[in-house]
Amino acid sequence: MSPIQSASGIVSITSAKRLTASDSHRFPDAVPELSVVVPLYCEESNVDHLFERLETVVDELGVTYEIVCVDDGSKDSTLMRLISHHHRNPAIKVVALARNFGKELALTAGLDHSQGQAVVPIDADLQDPPECIRELMEKWREGYDVVYAKRNTRSGETWLKTFSANGFYRVIGRMSQVTIPHDTGDFRLMDRRVVEALKQLPERTRFMKGLFAWVGHRQTFITYNRAPRHSGRTKWNYWKLWNFALDGIVSFSSTPLRVWSYLGLIISVISFIYASFLVIRTLILGIDLPGYASLMVAILFLGGIQLVSLGIIGEYLGRVYEEVKQRPLYLVREFYGGPAE
Ligand code: UDP
Ligand code: MG
Repeated sequence: MSPIQSASGIVSITSAKRLTASDSHRFPDAVPELSVVVPLYCEESNVDHLFERLETVVDELGVTYEIVCVDDGSKDSTLMRLISHHHRNPAIKVVALARNFGKELALTAGLDHSQGQAVVPIDADLQDPPECIRELMEKWREGYDVVYAKRNTRSGETWLKTFSANGFYRVIGRMSQVTIPHDTGDFRLMDRRVVEALKQLPERTRFMKGLFAWVGHRQTFITYNRAPRHSGRTKWNYWKLWNFALDGIVSFSSTPLRVWSYLGLIISVISFIYASFLVIRTLILGIDLPGYASLMVAILFLGGIQLVSLGIIGEYLGRVYEEVKQRPLYLVREFYGGPAE
C-alpha cells in the first residue's frame, strides 16, 4: 500500500472526511454537508413558514445542504406544497410515502434517503427551532458524532404530558441497558457514520430515541427552549403516547417478562407455607370447613396475576410476530430529488 493510500485510509476511518462548502463547489456531485430530515403529516399550515426559517438558517451557515421532506401520507395539501417548494429549490427533496406509516417510520425513510455528512431530523411544526442547527454544527465540527438537543422547557404542553413524560423516562431508565437521555426528542445532529449504523438496525418497531442511544458513538448535547407548535394540532393523544411508551419499554428491556418468574416463585413459597399451616391446623383441630372468602380472594388474585402475565407475554409475542413477517418498513410512492432528475 502506498503512503498516500494509507494516509487517506486513516483519514476516512478516524475523522470521516467532512466536506466543506468549498469542496462541493469543486466537486458539484459531492454529497452535501448537511441534510435536514423533516417528517410531515398534515402540516399544510406549517410548510411555507418552515422553509422560510430553515432556508434562512442554512443560507447563513453557508454550507451545502439538502432538505429531505417525508410526506407521511398527508390527507391535506402538504405534499402538493412540498413539490412546489422542490421545483423552486431543488435542494428540497420530497419522499412521498404510500400511506401514513407514523412518525418513526417516516423519519427512518428520511434518514435512508439522506446523503449529507451531518444529518439533522427536525419536526415540521417548528417546535424545534431551526436556529439551533448552527450550535449543533459547531459541536459536530469539534468532533462529536451525535449532538442531541435537550429541552429546557416544554412550553405549550400540559402538566400531565410533562408529568407522564418524566415518569416514562424514569421507568425506561431503570429497565433498559442503554441510557436514553431525558427530555430529548428526535431533534439532534448525527454524523454520517451514525446514520449508517442506524440503517443497520433492521427492527420494525422503531423506537427512535432508543435506537439513537443504542448506536452510541461520541455524544454530547446542547440545550434549547422547545417552542409551542407554530400552527395545527399535535397528532398525539394519550392512547398513542401510551402505546409509544410500551413500544419503547418492550423494545429495550426484557425486565417485564422476567418479573413473572420471580413473582411466581414468591407466591409459590407463600402458598406452600399457608398450605402447611392449613394441614397442620386440620390435623390438630380437626376438620374446619369455612373459608369461602379466602378461597375466592386467592382464586381471583391468582387469576388476575395470570392474565396480566399473559398480556405481557402477548406484548412481546405480538412484536416478535411483526418482526418475523419481514415486511418492508415503509413504502415510497414517489421520490422527488433523486439523481435521475
Ligand atoms: N408526524 C408524521 N407522521 C405521523 C405523525 C406526525 O410524520 O403520523 C410528524 C409531524 O408532521 C411533525 C412531527 O412528526 O413534523 C411531530 O409530530 P407532532 O408535532 O404531532 O408531535 P409532538 O411534537 O406533539 O410530539
Ligand atoms: Mg410537535
